[in-house]
Amino acid sequence: MVSWLGKAIAAREPFALGELRAEPAGAGWSLHPGNIRPGTTPIEAAELEEYVRSDSAGRYRPLSGSRNLRRGWQVTTADDGALTAAIEAIYPLATRHIEMAAAGTLRTVPIRDVLKRQSGRYSAAAELSDEGQALAEQVVCGACVRTPVWRDGVRSPAGEVPCPEACSVLVSFCREAQRWEAAPPPPAPVKSSVGFADFETAGNELREEYLARRRE
Ligand code: SF4
Repeated sequence: MVSWLGKAIAAREPFALGELRAEPAGAGWSLHPGNIRPGTTPIEAAELEEYVRSDSAGRYRPLSGSRNLRRGWQVTTADDGALTAAIEAIYPLATRHIEMAAAGTLRTVPIRDVLKRQSGRYSAAAELSDEGQALAEQVVCGACVRTPVWRDGVRSPAGEVPCPEACSVLVSFCREAQRWEAAPPPPAPVKSSVGFADFETAGNELREEYLARRRE
């Protein structure tokens, strides 16, 4: 079965994918993070992967799907193949996972299996309580454009990227959350200077959201 993405590209219809917008432009496509306006920077497709590796504040983006894509740029691709390559540079494996989900061949792995196979310092992640794990999923995956279809019964609607298996960022968060269960850290104001996945540091946005919700 052809996916919603394959149909949109074949029909040359504008579409949204995560934080991206794509519109037909000549024989190719214009790809951008929405709100094209005067002053939007045209960048070369070859530079894209490096360009989106940091957010607008210059912070490294360890999670390719995190909802903090830089704004104010656009890429013009020559054809459909170049459009797919540009999307993959931003959201690796996204187009493949969308096609596999449509074909019914996307294999998903439950998070408990992913946590159990961790070793070394990450093995503690498997000891996180069910309640803590559920909240970690809500907080971390809520900051990501991908849809965690590894959760029971979750389906990925059009415009979203299916995620078949818990990523290393979520595993890393679960490890920290397990440590916080015995000795919850005090609240701290969110600091935009703290790295996205620097969960050990007070002021990390996801850490503070999680700890505040655990206190409720
Ligand atoms: S596990 Fe969650 S945060 Fe990680 S890539 Fe999948 S949806 Fe995004």
